[in-house]
Amino acid sequence: MAENTYLLRGAAILGGEAEDLLIRNGVIEARGQGLAADGATVIDAAGLIALPGMVDVHTHLREPGREDAETVETGTRAAALGGFTAVHAMANSNPVADTAGVVEQVHSLGRASGWVDVRPVGAVTVGLAGEQLAELGAMADSRAQVRMFSDDGICVHDPVLMRRALEYVKAFDGVVAQHAQEPRLTAGAQMNEGTVSAVLGLTGWPAVAEESIIARDVLLAQHVGSRLHVCHVSTAGSVEIVRWAKARGINVTAEVTPHHLLLTDELVRSYDPVYKVNPPLRTDADVQALREGLADGTIDVVGTDHAPHPSEHKECEWAQAAMGMTGLETALSVVQETMIETGLMSWADFARVTSFTPAVIGRVADQGRPLEVGEPANVILVDPAARWTVDPHKMATMGRNSPFKGKELPGSVVATFFKGHPTVLDGRLNTPYRYPEVSSN
Ligand SMILES: [Zn+2]
Repeated sequence: MAENTYLLRGAAILGGEAEDLLIRNGVIEARGQGLAADGATVIDAAGLIALPGMVDVHTHLREPGREDAETVETGTRAAALGGFTAVHAMANSNPVADTAGVVEQVHSLGRASGWVDVRPVGAVTVGLAGEQLAELGAMADSRAQVRMFSDDGICVHDPVLMRRALEYVKAFDGVVAQHAQEPRLTAGAQMNEGTVSAVLGLTGWPAVAEESIIARDVLLAQHVGSRLHVCHVSTAGSVEIVRWAKARGINVTAEVTPHHLLLTDELVRSYDPVYKVNPPLRTDADVQALREGLADGTIDVVGTDHAPHPSEHKECEWAQAAMGMTGLETALSVVQETMIETGLMSWADFARVTSFTPAVIGRVADQGRPLEVGEPANVILVDPAARWTVDPHKMATMGRNSPFKGKELPGSVVATFFKGHPTVLDGRLNTPYRYPEVSSN
């Protein structure tokens, strides 16, 4: 019994007052000052901040089919180290997660690994081909209980299919998460379209290619009365459109990645493919608008778009390189640097955009809950005073494509409790959570 009992002593809850948290059998049993230990493992959390476990709405775990890039095991180890207790696994695996069978496979791999709650995202269209709807209802009814659907990596550009998907997911309170990219406007695009692309002579990905799809989709969502989620918003104009849609009462949520909060297209001058990502890094004015949009609630959540690639796909010429960056193990630090150390957000705001709201968007019932008595013990302890230098070779993800390599970042995850079990202690992986055996008769 005692090994399931942990007393976190003196952590600043959501960055506020220092209190103790008593965790027993997966639940927060008590919260207050001077709690008795009664055989619990005591963890001195003085100077640390207690937050709800982070929930990622946008992770690429690559399995099945691309185990040379990442597996559910390695990706969820990275997630636990980054302070996550749930991740939504994007559907662009091989085979694509477009059937009940594949989403159940990913769900089972997540439970077998035991590091975080793996919530499979179902594809909107068969094979991500954009031609016919996938079996959305069967994925929703499956053991994986899919509530988020996305062709991410590719835009659902046919407006009739997008409309049908939005209508279909209403039946089970699902959401369509759109990768907003007008394909004709971005054919052959290598980076953001602007001053830098003109200087470098690279084909540009114009802001309007993102903004025109978001504008269309919020109107479609309004028309059918459904939920829309916009993946990785990257331009100032996109923030304006989402702000307009929300003012009009349209049921839309939006996410921003940590890298779009910090990096700009000036980095592409290095021709280092680690900076090649979709949507591309934009301008400083876009970065400022994204930070303001996240701070004022126009952008609801941070999603990592963790996209590991084997080295041979990134350590090559710019034009040949794959698009994507890793992000699970640096997300907290980058948001601390860009949003908290700039005074734009508090740690309570941080919990809103990385845990509470992402769980609501994904309809993950037992995650993103307040740190209160009786709630599931998905809790992280963060040292906000820590400083560390990013070394991709020391990360748990198989991807070495971190755009923050060599950069010093603030803040570190000291401990992660998943369902009351410490998956991370002293900043290192501990042991996975083991789900209770279910008899199958
Ligand atoms: Zn995407």
